[in-house]
Amino acid sequence: MFRLGLRRAYATASEAASPYCMKVSKAQGTVNGFVGAIGNTPLIRLNRLSDESGCDIYGKAEFMNPGGSVKDRAALYLVKEAEEKGLVKPGGTIVEGTAGNTGIGLAHVCRSKGYKCVIYMPDTQSQGKIDLLRLLGAEVYPVPAVAFENPENYNHQAKRHAESIDNAVWTNQFDNTANRRAHIETTGPELWAQLAGRLDGFTCATGTGGTLAGVTRYLKEVSDGRTECWLADPPGSVLHSYITSGGKLAARSGSSITEGIGQGRITDNLKPEINLINNSLSISDEKSIAMVYRLLDEEGLYMGASSALNVVAAYELALKLGPGKTVATVLCDGAYRYADRLFSRKWLESKGLVGAVPEGLLKYAVL
Ligand code: PMP
Repeated sequence: MFRLGLRRAYATASEAASPYCMKVSKAQGTVNGFVGAIGNTPLIRLNRLSDESGCDIYGKAEFMNPGGSVKDRAALYLVKEAEEKGLVKPGGTIVEGTAGNTGIGLAHVCRSKGYKCVIYMPDTQSQGKIDLLRLLGAEVYPVPAVAFENPENYNHQAKRHAESIDNAVWTNQFDNTANRRAHIETTGPELWAQLAGRLDGFTCATGTGGTLAGVTRYLKEVSDGRTECWLADPPGSVLHSYITSGGKLAARSGSSITEGIGQGRITDNLKPEINLINNSLSISDEKSIAMVYRLLDEEGLYMGASSALNVVAAYELALKLGPGKTVATVLCDGAYRYADRLFSRKWLESKGLVGAVPEGLLKYAVL
């Protein structure tokens, strides 16, 4: 039922090496340039949560990618696909609409491969993000923050920009399934090999949906459907109700402190894999912020809010599956870009989240 035409299941981590990532020289343990350092991230056992749940709970350390997030994998695949299809030639331009990690990944990949990088983003984004992209060599256009349906939305402007110049491509991370392929060919096989096939559950949140759809597609095939794959969804996203209502798409309402996740539509990266998803967990901001502080205090892990939300979901899924099970999720990025919010008492107060921080852990809110 789950034979989806993938290559055979990989037995070992070295066999899982994709055509693009993880080209480790066996002789010296070296990799080839920035892009060679993408992927092959450690899988970290979250000890306290595992002990508490009686399960093994793991986080895939995507914050250890060279650009600092899970989106390095997608960025590389988006650029490689454009190269392979002849859509961009040496010296050309990669254009994308992104407010965050994809832009950072693309800016790094473009520098390392000699392309120009142009990023459109909503003008509601912080100056810090704009500065970071610019110092990575990208040309940045902050544009009015309007809905996707509006032709002036940052994604549509990125598309038009690419069409208006020679030797340029709009990589279209939301609906270009090269994004999902990165996770079918690298993240999924790595996870499966790292756990030697002992994986009962997987859960993660979605922005574009590339990670969830790609990993789910791979795991469903190699486990013959046995690995339970669940969505983890923040407030303000429509996907949780879509899955739990059997496919009804509601209008978007509400918001979340998490960044880079939550979705208002079924992107091409999610189609048709969304039908393979077993179920969904809706995770409140209170639970996510509590886990940001717990991960720091208990595991020494300095994680962004989407990683924390994923870990909450992994813990809840472990409890549902029962003692002795193994559950994995994704540690998408570190807290560095969000520290002035997540670890600021003032900001916590402004969001009504001071009370959500576990007893004794407000000492970390030092900014
Ligand atoms: N977490 C963070 C911090 C992100 O930036 C993103 C990507 N927007 C995600 C999670 C979700 O990844 P994906 O786009 O593969 O669904």
